[in-house]
Amino acid sequence: MNQDRWVGIDIGGTSVKAGALGADGSTIEEANFDPEFARGPSHALDAIAREARRLGAQETLGVGVPGLLRRQDGYVLSSPNIKGFKDLPLRDELARRLGIAPSKVIVENDANAAALGEQWLGAGRGAGDLLMVTLGTGIGGGLILDGKLYAGAGLGGEVGHVVVDPLGPACGCGSRGCLETLASATAARRRSLAASLPTEKPGDLKLLCDRARSGHGPEKQLLFEIGRDLGRGLGPVICLLDVNLFVFGGGFSAALDTLEGGIRVGADERSYGGRGAHLQLVRATLGPAAGWIGAARPTVPGQRA
Ligand SMILES: [Zn+2]
Repeated sequence: MNQDRWVGIDIGGTSVKAGALGADGSTIEEANFDPEFARGPSHALDAIAREARRLGAQETLGVGVPGLLRRQDGYVLSSPNIKGFKDLPLRDELARRLGIAPSKVIVENDANAAALGEQWLGAGRGAGDLLMVTLGTGIGGGLILDGKLYAGAGLGGEVGHVVVDPLGPACGCGSRGCLETLASATAARRRSLAASLPTEKPGDLKLLCDRARSGHGPEKQLLFEIGRDLGRGLGPVICLLDVNLFVFGGGFSAALDTLEGGIRVGADERSYGGRGAHLQLVRATLGPAAGWIGAARPTVPGQRA
């Protein structure tokens, strides 16, 4: 069979993004659909397999999924935001529906997939080392070292659970004061509400950033503090790996220009060698497509890790 397109699927809590790529990484088609997770995993997997087939998946499929998974056999241990995605042999179930060998379905954590996408065709194009930091409901992380995804025993790169404040808010992971409890979009909203900022509409992050951009004031200070916490979370990564390029994705990355000063200060506080001023802090460029593109990447000839 002469395959001429490679399909990636990015499973999210409310919708699924998908698309087909040519061998050179060009986008042939993109789609966004609702697999109706509320009707149970079997129904949702039917819908996902149907869409993958429609997009042209013939022999291979790449899939990104949030949560805890066993990468080697694409088994979802738990994915708290997706109903029924618990103890689910995702790889095998999709392979069976598509009639292809299980080893031809490659399942990756969603943040890792986004890192693979950005390093291939986005803000990290051509970079050897980078950490992708996704600022959304939580904080996801995907680490690329020497041009390859590095996941260690499986959960490497999860910068969202680096402890920044041991006495800080309880985290969903069971720890306390993790980076994502202080600098995710959810955390930023909580902090802006607690500070009653911006005064016209507390909790509105877009307005908060607009105010911070237009001058000095409590809004600018709050975003500096959130940025500093973010930098403190990156400090241990810098100490251990001396990664210099950080690519920020997710909705709250729109605030990067207002967070940047704080990030550099926080990173300097928690790392050695005065790296803060030299860090490359950039926004992701593939937007919501990073996940499905990165999921497809390992199935594309010449891009296999
Ligand atoms: Zn945590």
